[in-house]
Amino acid sequence: MKSKKQAKPGRLFRVLFCAAVALLVFGAAPASRHRDVLYQYSTISALKLGIFDGKVSYAKLASLGDFGIGTFNGLDGEMIALDHRFYQITSDGKVRNVSPKMKAPFAMVKYFEPSISVDLKDPVSLEQLEAQLEQKFPGPNLIYAVKITGRFQSVKVRSVPAQRPPYPTLAEAVKRQTVFELKDVEGTMVGFWFPQYLNGVNQPGYHFHFISADHLSGGHLLDCQLESGVARLDQAEQFNLIFPDGESFLKADLSPKAPEEHP
Ligand code: ZN
Repeated sequence: MKSKKQAKPGRLFRVLFCAAVALLVFGAAPASRHRDVLYQYSTISALKLGIFDGKVSYAKLASLGDFGIGTFNGLDGEMIALDHRFYQITSDGKVRNVSPKMKAPFAMVKYFEPSISVDLKDPVSLEQLEAQLEQKFPGPNLIYAVKITGRFQSVKVRSVPAQRPPYPTLAEAVKRQTVFELKDVEGTMVGFWFPQYLNGVNQPGYHFHFISADHLSGGHLLDCQLESGVARLDQAEQFNLIFPDGESFLKADLSPKAPEEHP
């Protein structure tokens, strides 16, 4: 039978070390959970109805994520956020830095922390690419942030011109979109995949925006032919919907089905 021992300095150190590790792990959990939230301002159904003015600033959105897509008040172009830099692609095709004071009627942002990486070695169409990535999803009932960086044989993007109140529906506004065709370009697709059951809150399936590696062109992605690249997938642990507090959102009838276009 062993005699009773007093705690040796080595053992005491181990106990303290374990306590410190536990504190670090559990103490840090709320912060890391906070980072795995997809924040969305307003709903796609509200945007479809022409609710093109929001109250959330890009300073606020930038505090909630470093990756995302959306638009600007008045539907003034397409927004893409990549590596914590926010860009505005206007209907003249120019890419500008977003000022923190600018506001969004609809946007999605998340800290991008991918857990799945997919090597894309063979040329694929957008349809093939989307199907290939969907096979890597752990399940169809979550929201995924998707980033694809690579070389593209072609990319077809669009942007929309700023609208003036009284605003038209989104489908009407999109009729005046400008389409740009890029050839042999390197760049990044930034987007999200939403499950069918969130239809109306967002658009089910994929929604991508694109920016070229030289940051000189981009927009809402309509089509592409990928030569090769890498896709990274990040499943959101939580979804936080920020309701607009304007009268137009409060009184809008968001129940009926609206046309399928989105910016
Ligand atoms: Zn879009």
